[in-house]
Amino acid sequence: MSNVTKTIGIIGGGQLGLMIIEQAHLLGARTVCLDPAADAPAFALSDERIVAAYDDAAALEELCRRSDVVTYEFENVPGSVLIPLEKKYNIPQGFRPLYDSQDRLREKDNARANGLQTPQYAAVDDEASLRAAVAQIGLPAVLKTRTLGYDGHGQLVMKSEADIERALPMLAVPCILEQFVPFDYEASIVMVADGERVVTFPIGRNVHRDGILDLCFVPAAEMDDDLRGRMVAAGERFMKSCGYRGILAIEFFIRDGRFYFNEMAPRPHNSGHYTIEGCTTNQFRELVRFLLGEPLQAPELVAPTVMKNILGQDLEAAEKIAAENLPGVYVRLYGKTESRPKRKMGHITFVGMTPAEYESRWAGKFVK
Ligand code: AMP
Repeated sequence: MSNVTKTIGIIGGGQLGLMIIEQAHLLGARTVCLDPAADAPAFALSDERIVAAYDDAAALEELCRRSDVVTYEFENVPGSVLIPLEKKYNIPQGFRPLYDSQDRLREKDNARANGLQTPQYAAVDDEASLRAAVAQIGLPAVLKTRTLGYDGHGQLVMKSEADIERALPMLAVPCILEQFVPFDYEASIVMVADGERVVTFPIGRNVHRDGILDLCFVPAAEMDDDLRGRMVAAGERFMKSCGYRGILAIEFFIRDGRFYFNEMAPRPHNSGHYTIEGCTTNQFRELVRFLLGEPLQAPELVAPTVMKNILGQDLEAAEKIAAENLPGVYVRLYGKTESRPKRKMGHITFVGMTPAEYESRWAGKFVK
């Protein structure tokens, strides 16, 4: 490790920024963070703060000027701002993975072009193309806005022809219709690449509620070694084929031993939070090691681990659990000033916990 303190610039000051900063500090780096909200969680720890909009070109340039290397935890930074900056400053992940993931249609085209299977999909812009897409893909299907959707926002499950009428208001913006996958379960893969090597975090089974990640059980006991091996190989091949560097998470639907690309995010991922205590190295730390030009470390799972997301409605239960101060139970609250139902307020990692133990001992403590 070099003795010169480096400064990492982070676009976005949510919980992901906060946890990047913690690892940056542990690895001896300084941080400067940009976020539009003056009370952004990451500002509690960042060495410097810039309060500005994500499309404020001058503020983003200021962030770059103050940094040795820049990363992002927010996916919708516009290319019109980032592309000129990546030519002048050290933004090693670049705009490309953001570009590839900012539009669900482009994202799936890119996944297919680089060797991953996806559910069937079609672009939808108006009633005629919606009807054509329904005829082609069949029902049930999921209509999603192409851009700016997250955590189930901007989605409509269509079950019958009668839902076409209900779907029309969504078509004010470009959409994509996707085949509804009756998956056995969902799983995601988090990878960090340095241009030569890809390290991959152990794969868990993800459980969503109302489109938001609720639980992550690691390892995914349902997944045999063959499937796990194929997923890791496909993920690593994808990363190399796209030429991505830095961190990438891919969410998959698993059905009958096959995996289908759902979406990806070129930033630390909620399903990787368990790695902080559940693995020998974590997603934030390896991202920081990449940014600092240090060799990557391959993670090992320490013990079976369960991660439970704490949304606004779970905050009270989480505070009670924190007060119990039990070994192996790590309650992490992000310090957000306003709690709302469905807002991610924190997470709890249970290390040394099987799904069955979680279900019998802990599941009942949270709002159903
Ligand atoms: P997304 O924002 O695309 O990740 O969707 C959020 C959640 O909705 C996913 O994690 C799934 O649980 C569910 N979902 C989304 N798309 C589909 C689909 N095509 N088939 C079945 N479930 C889906």
